[in-house]
Amino acid sequence: MRIQLRAALSCICIFVVMCCFVGSCTTDYVTGKRTFTLVTESQEVAMGKEADPQIVAEYGLYEDQELTATVQNLGERLAAVSQRSKLQYRFRVLDSPVVNAFALPGGYVYVTRGILAHFDSEDQLAGVLGHEIGHVVARHSAEQISRVQLASLGLGLGSLVSDEFRKFADVAEAGLGLLFLSFSRNQEEESDLLGVEYSTKLGYDAHAMAGFFRTLKQMSAESGQSLPFFLSTHPDPGNREVKVHELATEWQGKAGYKHVNTSRYGYLKQIDGIVYGDDPRQGYVENDMFYHPEMKFQVPVPSGWNVVNTPSTVQMVGADKKAAVQLTLGKSASLDTEADNFISANKVTVRKRDRATVHGFSGLAVESAIQSEKESVTILSYFISKDGKIFVLHGFTSDDLFAKYRSVFAGVMKGFDQVSDQAVLNKKPDRIKIQQAPRSGDVATVFSALGVPKDKQKELALVNGMSLEDQVKQGEWIKVLGK
Ligand SMILES: [Zn+2]
Repeated sequence: MRIQLRAALSCICIFVVMCCFVGSCTTDYVTGKRTFTLVTESQEVAMGKEADPQIVAEYGLYEDQELTATVQNLGERLAAVSQRSKLQYRFRVLDSPVVNAFALPGGYVYVTRGILAHFDSEDQLAGVLGHEIGHVVARHSAEQISRVQLASLGLGLGSLVSDEFRKFADVAEAGLGLLFLSFSRNQEEESDLLGVEYSTKLGYDAHAMAGFFRTLKQMSAESGQSLPFFLSTHPDPGNREVKVHELATEWQGKAGYKHVNTSRYGYLKQIDGIVYGDDPRQGYVENDMFYHPEMKFQVPVPSGWNVVNTPSTVQMVGADKKAAVQLTLGKSASLDTEADNFISANKVTVRKRDRATVHGFSGLAVESAIQSEKESVTILSYFISKDGKIFVLHGFTSDDLFAKYRSVFAGVMKGFDQVSDQAVLNKKPDRIKIQQAPRSGDVATVFSALGVPKDKQKELALVNGMSLEDQVKQGEWIKVLGK
């Protein structure tokens, strides 16, 4: 959850509307041929424009103007040498530790701070941005969406209690469906080729992009590492590594290629200080307590429940997925208005409504129900006023389970409190720091010399695109962690 209040999200209905459009002819930008498609260019742009704020709300933008400008400038230069240079492209750096890059139809391209931390050179960044621009140019996501993906958009928390329930759960899953759009092997190969083409035209070494596939492959081989989307939705990175090396050699053999002088240090300097891993300032869980240092609150997490923390919402879901608690910031000036708006917007039937005081903060407790044709969902809500903000907590479950969960919900909500513990308030994220190897030797030895704890060494070797046995020369720049 972030300190800025973000607009509540609606479902990605534009994609449902899409299938009602009559097909038309558009240009295949890569081959120049006219092809039949269901989505026109203006519709593509509209799709991207509609989904972009949801992606941003889901992940947040990484606030580093210099780095954002680097990505935007490089992206624009790559797009300018593409077959679809007239489109207006937008490049965003998302505040996510996940190693990922993806594109939306209409020219929206995203890279995470996680992937930027793992790159070793601007050549790799150029290759990956070029690849994503390739998806836009070749209209892959537009093509996917105009086919069968409509039905699968909006997956995620679908197994939760009911349709009524899903309405509330939507916030946390919005946008995610888009990331699960999987491209075919042919589409990935086409984008790899386009990525090599665009980056080579600008003088970047596409062999470096091939090298990044090795990092991805090692990451997926690491047990306990969550599989990056960029990899999971893509074909075997091993095969692509070989293929991209071949393409790079081929394209560099063409007239006019001259490698731009981008030093490895130049790129590393740009990511020096980038946040690495989860950022605890935006919320973290410790000993069954969710702490939010920036907003200075804490709220208990029922034992065994999962916590999903996005910029707009904190969601706790029971292990059986039959109950959940959601925490958001209200938008109204008073507790009563906030409660009234919730009641009217969701057409709930109020069963109880009482004043409540939670650890000295004034609040309002509302018990309500939503009756649909199929079932009934019961909701316990607390609206709590703290530091000029209204914190809204809803606990949901089906009617028949409410008796079981009521005390669990109440335990969470009545446990809401101020944080004053300095250790929590001063919590800082890990950051990538670049340092020169104090001596020659293998990565493990150099890490030890730089004070990298043993249990972090394997992971950090991957961040450097290396393994622990690889050799490093004295004076070579290497990524380690600092605060
Ligand atoms: Zn791709």
